[in-house]
Amino acid sequence: MDIDDRAEALASDLGADNEEVKADLQNLLEYDVPIDEAVQSLRRKYGGGGGGAAPAARSIGDVTTEDASVTVTARVLTVGKRTIRYQGDDYTIFEGELADESGRISYTAWTDFGLEPGATITAGNAGVREWEGEPELNLGESTDVTFEDETLSVPYEIGGDASLADLDPGDRGVNVEAVVLEVESRTIDGRDGPTDILSGVLADETARLPFTDWNPHPDVAEGASLRLENCYVREFRGVPSVNLSEFTTVTPLDRAVEVSDAAPRRAVGEAVAEGGAFDVELVGNLLDVRDGSGLIQRCPECNRVIQNGQCRSHGEVDGVDDLRVKAILDDGTGTVTAVLDRDLTEEVYGGTLADALEHARDAMDKEVVADDIAERVVGKEYRVRGVLSVDEYGANLDASEFDLVEEDPGERARALLTEVSA
Ligand SMILES: [Zn+2]
Repeated sequence: MDIDDRAEALASDLGADNEEVKADLQNLLEYDVPIDEAVQSLRRKYGGGGGGAAPAARSIGDVTTEDASVTVTARVLTVGKRTIRYQGDDYTIFEGELADESGRISYTAWTDFGLEPGATITAGNAGVREWEGEPELNLGESTDVTFEDETLSVPYEIGGDASLADLDPGDRGVNVEAVVLEVESRTIDGRDGPTDILSGVLADETARLPFTDWNPHPDVAEGASLRLENCYVREFRGVPSVNLSEFTTVTPLDRAVEVSDAAPRRAVGEAVAEGGAFDVELVGNLLDVRDGSGLIQRCPECNRVIQNGQCRSHGEVDGVDDLRVKAILDDGTGTVTAVLDRDLTEEVYGGTLADALEHARDAMDKEVVADDIAERVVGKEYRVRGVLSVDEYGANLDASEFDLVEEDPGERARALLTEVSA
């Protein structure tokens, strides 16, 4: 039975307007409410009052994904505003977190109830849906939102102020103060055709994170110290990414946000277990140089590494020479593959790409370059900074810095102290 039939049957059953019921039903399905639950909820809405249909008051900590709908009294922690598109129409939604003494919960409001951080509300008949395994509240047309005079005290921070290191994917309505380290303009295929966006890197005292500004704000420029209000956070290649929308307020700060030059140093095992890091420093022993290191060739079309002049996507191509190193770094807690680009590889090799090509020609073997590099680095301790991504290809650290740790006991002790006090 499709949605039209279901809506028609329900409307006739309830003696309600067919189009109205259908619109409501589609609306509920849009936010992933299972159809049976959606029908139940509409029965309550059109059920003609009375009958004690209002759900029982519930502590937030007790709300589960088994609940169809609940009534909660809670403090609004954050309010983020965003538009989403559904079946060609744009909807403005409000999302964030609510809390009481027993816990906190995410919500999405499909109507503008005038929610503000710090307000105490009672949300009657709030729908419950599952989002990434956790219950989330849906405040929609059938929800009654009442503002309470008495302030509920909650053991959580009100408002969305956060430092970059605190951000997690899924956070909404967050405010950060950061400096724009890098920014570039790109054109993407947006939902309304080619769209200009900005992407780059933000930094504060605690971390560096990638960002995307979907509605370019003129103040987002390299070197600018900014307060960004009403951002949301998504996961991008295993790391949190800050998203700015048309509702994000960008205000230049009259102070320069301080940035730490060092990346946080982590144990390899811990960093890998967390699923990645945008800017991290790992220190370990270089166990081996992997195949595909030294002189390599890339496809001129897609830049992927090719074997014997064959690209997996583009067939036989005229390969472009390049240098890289894929080295296994181990600190006793875990292992990553550090990937060095041409510049870093030239440093380690002690020669340029041209030198490497000549070296290979003389030896009539391109492997001599990788062998040479392995001889220099294997068995030594290195400090590697870069972007750690963990996926089906394993744990790869895209290196931006690659430095030999000197065999100086004093240095070693200092490094250990830094690690302990971090
Ligand atoms: Zn290709």
